[in-house]
Amino acid sequence: MTPIRARWFNGQSSRAQDVLVALQAGPKGPSLHLLALDGDRVPTRRFAHADVEWPPVWSRHRTPAVITVSLNNAGTLEIDTPQAWQDALLEAGARPSLAQRMQTHWPVFLGVLLVAAIGVLSFYRYGTPWAAAQITRHVPLSWELSLTEQALAQLDQGYLKPSKLSPERQAELHRQFDALLTRMSPELARYPSYAPRFSLAFRSGMGANAFALPGGTVVMTDALVETAAKSGLSDDALIGVLAHEIGHVVHRHTTRMVVEQGVLQVGLGLALGDVSSIASFGSTLLTGLAYRRQHETEADCFAVALMQQAQLPTGPMADLLLGIASAREGQRKDQPTKKAERGSFAGWLSSHPDTRQRAEQLKAGQTAGCKS
Ligand SMILES: [Zn+2]
Repeated sequence: MTPIRARWFNGQSSRAQDVLVALQAGPKGPSLHLLALDGDRVPTRRFAHADVEWPPVWSRHRTPAVITVSLNNAGTLEIDTPQAWQDALLEAGARPSLAQRMQTHWPVFLGVLLVAAIGVLSFYRYGTPWAAAQITRHVPLSWELSLTEQALAQLDQGYLKPSKLSPERQAELHRQFDALLTRMSPELARYPSYAPRFSLAFRSGMGANAFALPGGTVVMTDALVETAAKSGLSDDALIGVLAHEIGHVVHRHTTRMVVEQGVLQVGLGLALGDVSSIASFGSTLLTGLAYRRQHETEADCFAVALMQQAQLPTGPMADLLLGIASAREGQRKDQPTKKAERGSFAGWLSSHPDTRQRAEQLKAGQTAGCKS
C-alpha cells in the first residue's frame, strides 16, 4: 500500500512533524506504523491495534476534512486525506462495527430495524401471552368486578339497550343458568383459588350474541334467545352457549387479554423509553376485544365437559351457532355491511372466531384439542 502523509504532534513539542503512516493487517485488526519522510530523522515506530484510538467511520456523504487519530501517550496524528485513510483501513482488513455500518449504510440499518421488529412481534406473539398468564394469577377478583362494572356501564350508554324479554322468560333462563353452575365440578377450575361471582344479564340492541365479562357476568342478547326460538331449538341450545361463556370466565380469557395489552404497552414503553405510552387502559378495551382461537377451543372443551356433567346435549348449541353463521353468510352476500351499521350487527361471529368449524365439531360430538 501507499503510505499516507500525516502531521504528528508527539505531545512533547508544539510543532508538528510530517510523517508517513502505513497500516498493516494483523490478527486483532490493523496495526499502525509511523515512517520517516525522506531526509527526516523520525524513527520508525509501530503501534499495535489496541494502542490506537481508531476514529469513527463517517457516512459517505459526510466525509470530514481532517481526521484525527490518537496514539495515546505518543500524541496524535492529523490526516488531510480521509478517503486514503479509509481505503488503507479496508485494505488492512479493518471490519467496521455494526454501529458504524448502520451509520454508513441504510440497508444495514433497515436490516437491524427488521430484526428488532421481529423481536417485538415475537414478544407480542409468545412473550406477552406467557407473561399475561403469570400476572393473571395475581389479578384480584375485585379488579375484574370493577372493570366489568365500568365496561357494562359504557356498553349500556353505547349501543346496548334493556332487554325486552318477559320477566318470566328471564327468570326461567336464570334458573337454568344457576342449575348449570351447581353441576360444575371442581376439576373444571383453571385457576385453583379463583371464585368468580357468576351472574346472567340480558340486553338488546345487538345481534345474536353472548359474551363473558371478567369476574363472572355473562351477557346474553334478546336476539340470541329469539333466534333459538325461531329455529325451534330447545333451551339446551342457549344453556350450551352459556356453558361456553362460563368457560371464558373460568379461564379468565378477557382478563388475560387486558393484561396482555398492559404488558405490551409497558413493554413497548420500556423499549421505546416513552413513559407516556404506559397509559391507562380499561373498559374501552373490552368492547374491541375478540377472543382468540385457542380461547374458543378452551371454552368449547369446557362447555362440552360441563354439559356432560349436567347431562345435557351439545347438539342444539351447535345447531344454534351454525344457524347464526349461515344467516350471517347470507346477509353478507345480499347486503355488504356498511361501516356505520356494524355496531348494531355485532354478534356472536364478531367476537367468537371460527364458529362454523367449531360448531360442526361440536355437532359431530368431536372435541378435538381438548385435554382429557
Ligand atoms: Zn367464545
